[in-house]
Amino acid sequence: MVQAITGKVLSNELVAPDFYKLDVFVGSMAEEIKPGQFVMVKVASGLEPFLRRPISINSVNIKERNLSLIYQVIGKGTKLMTNIKRDQNLEIMGPLGQGFTWKGTDKTAVLVGGGCGIAPLVALAQELKANDKDVYVLLGAQTKDRLICEREFNKVGAKVQVATDDGSWGFHGFVTELLERLLAQVKVDQLYCCGPLPMTKIVTRIAEKNSLPCQVSLEERMGCGIGACIGCVCKTQDHHGKIDYKKVCTDGPVFDSREVVFDD
Ligand SMILES: Cc1cc2nc3c(=O)[nH]c(=O)nc-3n(C[C@H](O)[C@H](O)[C@H](O)COP(=O)(O)OP(=O)(O)OC[C@H]3O[C@@H](n4cnc5c(N)ncnc54)[C@H](O)[C@@H]3O)c2cc1C
Repeated sequence: MVQAITGKVLSNELVAPDFYKLDVFVGSMAEEIKPGQFVMVKVASGLEPFLRRPISINSVNIKERNLSLIYQVIGKGTKLMTNIKRDQNLEIMGPLGQGFTWKGTDKTAVLVGGGCGIAPLVALAQELKANDKDVYVLLGAQTKDRLICEREFNKVGAKVQVATDDGSWGFHGFVTELLERLLAQVKVDQLYCCGPLPMTKIVTRIAEKNSLPCQVSLEERMGCGIGACIGCVCKTQDHHGKIDYKKVCTDGPVFDSREVVFDD
């Protein structure tokens, strides 16, 4: 059930250039969260900015009733979030949206993440490992110091490979090249992807080429996060190619890649 709560901030720390990790005590909300879901965060007190900002749930500690968010400083709202202090109250609404799903019969999953899109894949990797899946994680970043969460994926026992644009860590090139190489070697049941749109489009094409199911998490600018403002629609198609539009906030953010129409 979606809750609008006042959480208590536990920490808000810089983890990489422009990337912060925000830990918040959220009480019973922690029990409701599924990997791939997000929360709407009121980034500052008062009316400015008026709209909350959508941030994916990076990980959850049900026992401690905490969640972690990782956000990249992009504009006004995320810049204001860097001022959030320990012990401060924070208004959060969630968990929102449709998260990632998996089948009991799936044995091997590959998670492909880029930039701040890596963040929600941590919760997914934890869940898949807890369900005895073989989990490969392919991470893409511009440079080594802008790579987030590598340690967390290693900690859950995922097989992690990294690609950086400048070759400062791991493979020198794009994470999608790592994906093509891996698919040539390993039998995979399910792909998951979260990251920049160009990366998501390529992962979708690779999934199609290899006849693999792929779930993609989409990011659109969002007003309300609960389906009321219709500000975050994406173009979709059904099995017969019939075009439709769906709301990223309530129908997504996770979609079957075959459903999404990526206009070039
Ligand atoms: C479901 C969902 C989950 C998200 N999860 C995360 C996350 O885990 N970590 C994270 O760092 N970010 C995440 N984002 C993106 C984050 O919400 C935006 O970066 C943030 O709202 C920008 O707010 P701002 O006030 O800092 O920037 P603004 O001042 O509002 O905008 C600055 C610039 O960023 C562009 N922009 C704003 N929002 C988006 C967006 N959603 N997609 C593309 N461009 C945008 C604007 O067009 C503008 O050019 C998520 C977005 C969605 C929809």
